[in-house]
Amino acid sequence: MAQATVQTLAGNTLQISEEKLDTLRHCLRGSACLPGEPGYDEARTLWNAMIDLSPGLVIRCAGAADVIQAVDFARENELLLAVRGGGHNIAGKGCCDKGLMIDLSPMQSVRIDSANHTARVEPGALLADFDKEAQAFGLVTPLGINSTTGVAGLTLGGGFGWVSRKYGLTIDNLLSADVVTADAQLVHASDTENSDLFWALRGGGGNFGVVTSFEFQLHAIGNEVLSGLVVHPFEQASELFGKYLDYVKDLPDELTCWVVLRKAPPLPFLPEQWHGKEVMIFAVCYVGDLQEGERVLAPLRGWGEPIADVISPHKYVDWQTAFDPLLTPGERNYWKSHDFTDLRGAAVDTIIDFAGRLPTPECEIFVAKLGGEINRVDEDATAYPHRDTEFVLNVHTRWSDPAEDAKCIAWAREFFDKTAPYANGGVYVNFMADDEAARMDGAYGSNLDRLTTLKSSYDPDNLFRINQNIAPSA
Ligand SMILES: Cc1cc2nc3c(=O)[nH]c(=O)nc-3n(C[C@H](O)[C@H](O)[C@H](O)COP(=O)(O)OP(=O)(O)OC[C@H]3O[C@@H](n4cnc5c(N)ncnc54)[C@H](O)[C@@H]3O)c2cc1C
Repeated sequence: MAQATVQTLAGNTLQISEEKLDTLRHCLRGSACLPGEPGYDEARTLWNAMIDLSPGLVIRCAGAADVIQAVDFARENELLLAVRGGGHNIAGKGCCDKGLMIDLSPMQSVRIDSANHTARVEPGALLADFDKEAQAFGLVTPLGINSTTGVAGLTLGGGFGWVSRKYGLTIDNLLSADVVTADAQLVHASDTENSDLFWALRGGGGNFGVVTSFEFQLHAIGNEVLSGLVVHPFEQASELFGKYLDYVKDLPDELTCWVVLRKAPPLPFLPEQWHGKEVMIFAVCYVGDLQEGERVLAPLRGWGEPIADVISPHKYVDWQTAFDPLLTPGERNYWKSHDFTDLRGAAVDTIIDFAGRLPTPECEIFVAKLGGEINRVDEDATAYPHRDTEFVLNVHTRWSDPAEDAKCIAWAREFFDKTAPYANGGVYVNFMADDEAARMDGAYGSNLDRLTTLKSSYDPDNLFRINQNIAPSA
């Protein structure tokens, strides 16, 4: 193994001798790799192909002991440090250029306690890993909608998906976590132990330490949910959006219903003449009695003349992967997002206007309806502050040709600016792009002051800074 060249927190370059690297390697169960060595490219390759970063050294952790070693190595040598869970973060915060990268992806164990309805999850597990294990017992915890997302980053930002209106955010189901803090100590955090750290982890992102194990509450739902899509011609979008907003005013918690505006992908259930044309999609999931779900969904399914209605009972694990083909890794992505307390009138007109001029066929506009159990939690009960947000607009700008970067990014930014006057100023930290460092007020809202105090106490030197960063007070 040659020597490593790694960037420090101060921005200098540190040469790490072969001997020092040998000593580090000797202590690890996992591996340490330099550019060009086996495992290096696998670790640094992220979901978003816009982010192409080359760490000076990667430590691929096999367990908590490796994480302690790695954080200690970073701390002692004052190295720029990034932490990768699932590598899905749109801003590429799981990796860094020239610094030390801790890669947690080898740590993928998920252990279900079916008697107590709890799960122990390692930080490299993906949503698919979790769902497959939990569904062996008909159990769930709320996670996101794309099965290749990492459980770790999603949880630390808040986490919501198809069953969150019923069971709350992912963090509302987090019972405890094991965390390696900036002084390289492993501590347990829960409501009764290190409760301030536990509070901060639930929405404060990777700012406070490296989580080596998550403990979740699970819920029995069985294996089937009533779910699927209703696809309409885009020409109906304005009228249908109005109906949708009335319909979701009074939804039972069991039902989640999101709007997707995009060009129709060539999916087998869509007639060929619609492929590539703009459509409006209602994506729904009812978690509960299937017959009651049919009754609740009947009004929505009666609107207009849909191109396709593919709502039916689906295996939960299959529904959890339904959007995977449209959200594959390796494409170029730039996202913009706003939270809304209310969505009406000109805001809707603007969304429809931009949906009518998507820059590429891969782009899509998601409007997620939150509320339900998510919003019954107090704003200061966890670090995630957006408990009054009813709708999240997420602009998934997506393309493959670098020549289209400028066009796509300009479209997303203009869309973002034009919808800003109607939004509530909040933004979900996990939907933020890499150029939004000035938006920390929006991300952490009324909890930012407490988060800053805790950051100053747990990580005064800001070792954990490759994230939507909460700066410690000077
Ligand atoms: C296609 C797609 C769909 C998505 N859908 C949803 C959705 O439905 N619901 C939702 O809530 N979110 C969703 N997200 C957002 C998702 O929550 C974030 O991208 C999240 O950051 C992914 O976590 P990760 O572990 O894969 O990310 P990474 O890129 O590995 O890490 C993200 C951040 O978390 C930190 N981090 C990761 N692991 C740890 C750890 N163990 N300890 C401390 N810090 C850590 C990293 O340092 C980094 O700052 C989606 C994202 C994509 C790209």
